[in-house]
Amino acid sequence: MPIQLFDTLSRTYKTLTPADGETFRFYCCGPTVYGAAHIGNFRTFVLQDILRRSLEAEGWATRHTRNITDVDDKTIRESQEERKSLREFTEFWRERFHRDCAALNLLPPHVEPSAVAHVDRQIELIQKLIENGHAYVENGSVYFSIQSFPEYGRLSHLAERELTTDREGAQHQAHDQDEYERETAADFALWKARKPEDGPNYWESPWGEGRPGWHIECSAMSMQYLGATLDLHSGGIDLIFPHHENEIAQSEAVTGKAFASHWFHVAHLLVEDNKMSKSLGNLLTLDEIMEKGHTGQEIRYVLLEGHYRHPLNFTWGALKAARKALQRMARFDEALRRVAKVSDPDLGCPDSKRLHGVSHSFEKAWSALENDLNTPEALGQIFVALKRVQREIDNGSLGSERANHEWLGWRRMIYALGIRLEQPEAPKPPEEIVKLADARWEAKKKRDFATADQLRETIRSRGWQVKDRPDHYELAPSEE
Ligand code: AMP
Ligand code: ZN
Repeated sequence: MPIQLFDTLSRTYKTLTPADGETFRFYCCGPTVYGAAHIGNFRTFVLQDILRRSLEAEGWATRHTRNITDVDDKTIRESQEERKSLREFTEFWRERFHRDCAALNLLPPHVEPSAVAHVDRQIELIQKLIENGHAYVENGSVYFSIQSFPEYGRLSHLAERELTTDREGAQHQAHDQDEYERETAADFALWKARKPEDGPNYWESPWGEGRPGWHIECSAMSMQYLGATLDLHSGGIDLIFPHHENEIAQSEAVTGKAFASHWFHVAHLLVEDNKMSKSLGNLLTLDEIMEKGHTGQEIRYVLLEGHYRHPLNFTWGALKAARKALQRMARFDEALRRVAKVSDPDLGCPDSKRLHGVSHSFEKAWSALENDLNTPEALGQIFVALKRVQREIDNGSLGSERANHEWLGWRRMIYALGIRLEQPEAPKPPEEIVKLADARWEAKKKRDFATADQLRETIRSRGWQVKDRPDHYELAPSEE
């Protein structure tokens, strides 16, 4: 069964297939680089990563485009407060974002365009919108006229919202802010005339100096790299209105084609039952969590524990449990690999063709992903299968051929969920073994090799081996 995913626009589950039959082309609204992204942002990026990995594990090629918003009200304001150039300021936060993505094992997008590098392309789109009567110039700024686009509001189901009955009256209030949380629709800025507070951050345009509005960048860059109709477009639910609504309007008004075949939105992350906000001081970043001794993988694991269409509550307790679950997975991975006689623990995407007709215990876990990316169900099913296979490993009833099939099913899940299995911590030798090893070390220092050899043998007979290092020794379980 191919992957089924809920589509925000049609409110139905739809099968994900690339329009060209080969490469699934999708666009994700990326970060605004004016500070460290918080773990809520990363919930959305992690889910988008899982979507991509699942499609790849299913056998499709993907083309993943995620932009960097490096000019908007916030980046300009904050860079000026820090007395840095916009470029220097946004570069710093872009790098930090990449570092966090790597810690979470996110695959880098195939294309990562920045708004500043695509201003020409945005101007071109705006010009077309003016030419075909969808946009107008007012005091050096350009606005999209939502009245000119009767389908406006289809994605966010605007017509069904109580507060929008005055849409006719509201539309003449043109909006300048890059972000607004209004419940009513309004004409929105495509181009913003230069203001003194913009400082040196402006570009020339047919309407004078200024800069692009926020929404137009995503239309310009997604269509440039993926074509007029994307296979899928995605972001957190806060972007449905007005950002994605505006993207649809300005793109379709130019191309006359559907902008995206599928809309994928991720519900918000809460922290200890609270909405994340600056005023509550709970905008948790990766650094803040990792400073407390947690790993990127543990954070990623916690972000998988809720279905993407429901809010997920982040707790410190969940992080602790994630550590245990990951350790268990890593131990299982090693044991299964040994029985399956896999020499190369390849962490890449298992070829889906190799799984065709192969029976294994991880089928239900995979089905959970195919069924609207149900990650919590997938994790639950992984552990059901893991226990079963582990039992067979322990009682010696798992032959190497079946182990190999289990390995393929298991690795596909690990790839799709993007879990990086760290090697389990070295087992701790019991105290008596350490005492024997200390005694042996002393004997060796005194050049009493006969005693040293005897002690080595005693240690070996109890299942441990001593490895000498220049200034001390190491103990490891005996390999026999
Ligand atoms: P921003 O950098 O604010 O543009 O956000 C980057 C991405 O994170 C967007 O897709 C947002 O919709 C998403 N996002 C913002 N807050 C949250 C949250 N609390 N939980 C999940 N996703 C979020
Ligand atoms: Zn966007």
